[in-house]
Amino acid sequence: MSDTGQPDLATLLAMVTGGVEGSVTPPIVQTSLFAFDSYQDFVDRMSGATSQPIYTRIQNPTVAVFEDLMAKAEGGEAAVGFASGMAAISSAVLAFVRPGDRIACVEHVYPDAYRLFERLLRPFGVEITYHSTDAFEHDPDLLKGARLAYLESPSSVVFRPMNLSRVAEYAKRNGVLTVTDNSWATPVFQRPLTQGIDVVLHSASKYISGHSDTVAGVVIASSDLITQIRDLSLSLLGGKLAPFEAWLLTRGLRTLEVRMLRHQATANTFLERLAGLRCVTAVHSPEPNSVPGLTGRAGLLSVEFDDSVDIPRFVDALKLFRIGVSWGGFESLVMPAQAALSQKGDQNSLQRFGVSPRLVRFSLGLESADDLWADLEDALSKSST
Ligand SMILES: *Cc1c(COP(=O)(O)O)cnc(C)c1O
Repeated sequence: MSDTGQPDLATLLAMVTGGVEGSVTPPIVQTSLFAFDSYQDFVDRMSGATSQPIYTRIQNPTVAVFEDLMAKAEGGEAAVGFASGMAAISSAVLAFVRPGDRIACVEHVYPDAYRLFERLLRPFGVEITYHSTDAFEHDPDLLKGARLAYLESPSSVVFRPMNLSRVAEYAKRNGVLTVTDNSWATPVFQRPLTQGIDVVLHSASKYISGHSDTVAGVVIASSDLITQIRDLSLSLLGGKLAPFEAWLLTRGLRTLEVRMLRHQATANTFLERLAGLRCVTAVHSPEPNSVPGLTGRAGLLSVEFDDSVDIPRFVDALKLFRIGVSWGGFESLVMPAQAALSQKGDQNSLQRFGVSPRLVRFSLGLESADDLWADLEDALSKSST
């Protein structure tokens, strides 16, 4: 632990070495199966007397290195890696929810999590109700009779933070399991398990990887809950994390803290300067310490512009910011809400939760803050009346 109360990732990572001729990085154990020396060894493993890996869908040493690091970073007992953030979400939820159960979900949840709930779980007889962060914090009865609370703090797109400690307390009182997505804050800025949340998950494709070269997910919780997720959803749905991807994620973790501090510094510069722009009607970026346990600001934020800005022209005039989904890499990106709102169908959560078409989401990367700001100012000058 560092004096901020957050995990000292550098210390954790220094403990990871290859164990081969003094190599400082772990080996990539690229194998599907692990053979046994004898009939008796095989029987001992199957009966649970020993724990050596059997098959990479369930267990792999390179994946285990990443899982152990994530468990320690989040202050949990155990972790399990997945092939994507969505595999982590679906596996964590499906391990615990059955037909007839209710999920209480936060508004502005990640759009594909919303589609998972509406398109897959609802037809299987799971009820899903959506509530504001305010309702979660101030209405303890909201959780009565629910099986699981699905949370994000801050939420997606509009980045509403939530008092996770308080919601965890209400949930415990009602016997409700709490699951929260911590992709935005990362363990550098927030550790929900230490606030009483039961299950934390990540799209590791974002800040954990940090290099826009991996799609992956991870779930962290108590050993007991992780065993249930492993036995039921990892084994049977099969969305396992590959050894090479896990190796990339361990590499990403080595720079997570310095990257997050850099993203934060750039975000702070932007917030200061955005406040001076007349065409900006709203900025969505939670203040550090506005809720207990959230100690920093990530580089993902949203801005709403007034009618003086032609948003398509603004987006096209940007040179350093590229246009795209995802976030959390070295490169800066914009995602105009109008484009996402134009996605058809009633499964569009941005429409349902009332996201403004004047909103543009920015992922501030690792470039110079001054260069990025100059790019934004230049694009605004070319697209404003
Ligand atoms: C991207 C994202 C996910 C989904 O992760 P994938 O790795 O793309 O499957 C989940 N939650 C949040 C908050 C995300 O931004």
